Amino acid sequence: MRTVGIIGAGQMGAGIAQVSAGAGYHVYLSDIDLTRAQAGKDGIEKALSKLVDKGKMARDAANILLARIEPVASYAPMAEAGLIIEAATEREDIKRKIFESVAEILDKSAVLASNTSSIPITRLAQSSPDPARFIGVHFFNPVPVMGLIEIIRGLGTTDATVDIVRSYGEALGKQLVFANDAPGFIVNRILMPMINEACFALGEGVATIRDIDTACQLGLNHPMGPLTLADFIGLDTCLEITNVLFRTTGDPKFRPAPLLQKYVEAGWYGRKVKRGFYDYSAEVPVPTR
Ligand code: NAD
Repeated sequence: MRTVGIIGAGQMGAGIAQVSAGAGYHVYLSDIDLTRAQAGKDGIEKALSKLVDKGKMARDAANILLARIEPVASYAPMAEAGLIIEAATEREDIKRKIFESVAEILDKSAVLASNTSSIPITRLAQSSPDPARFIGVHFFNPVPVMGLIEIIRGLGTTDATVDIVRSYGEALGKQLVFANDAPGFIVNRILMPMINEACFALGEGVATIRDIDTACQLGLNHPMGPLTLADFIGLDTCLEITNVLFRTTGDPKFRPAPLLQKYVEAGWYGRKVKRGFYDYSAEVPVPTR
């Protein structure tokens, strides 16, 4: 397999495009339109330029990597891809529509994967052209830095599909873990309740944003506090994942914190919009409460 299609050129899609091109794959990158797909590539170019300036990457290597990423306006060129990874907004209706369109071009032997953080793979597979060739491939943010991929097989996913994705993940140099198709898989099943609880603690006035983050960072030996991490992930994404955990299990322990909902209602989605629990417009992030 030499070609990968990526749908969604946001934080995750762009990151997946970067590491795929870095491993030698030709990448077709799409989004809702060509402008957004190109913006995803522009972001990668910026990130690579920083690496070049710091002496961590040769200019030639960066140019070769960039030349392998082709922003596209439609899915048609992805007909030659052996693997198509969907990394669009964490909403089931959006993903289902994408899979229905991909059905028109997906090669007979190609695999369709979703980078969903929480939506059940078996359920999503029902909108895919072939559930046997559908699988969850869950990267972590920022993709070029984080060394893990969770692989989630749906009820109908075949071993051959797992093998294709395993080879791809290994070519990227990532560590692979295999999870059953249970809500939140491994990492988000454990992480989202912690982030949500930090939001409850903040909403109830237990401590300030900074003190909640500092307490977890130093008291739990985490590299960053849960509110900083939520800003990194995107508060809209955190809320969607928490809602999926809540709805699919019916367990009240997963109910989303009102303050998390409030931040999302305000459009304060975190770093990607420069405002979440912290304001990122200044050089040093400033807490928003
Ligand atoms: P994002 O908001 O940065 O990007 C989402 C992109 O999807 C946007 O560019 C948007 O324009 C595009 N999009 C929306 N509708 C589309 C459509 N119909 N067709 C094509 N593109 C469309 O979000 P993100 O953080 O990159 O998350 C993307 C996916 O990755 C979600 O499923 C999310 O749960 C998952 N994920 C996120 C993280 C994280 O930490 N942010 C980690 C692992 C997985």
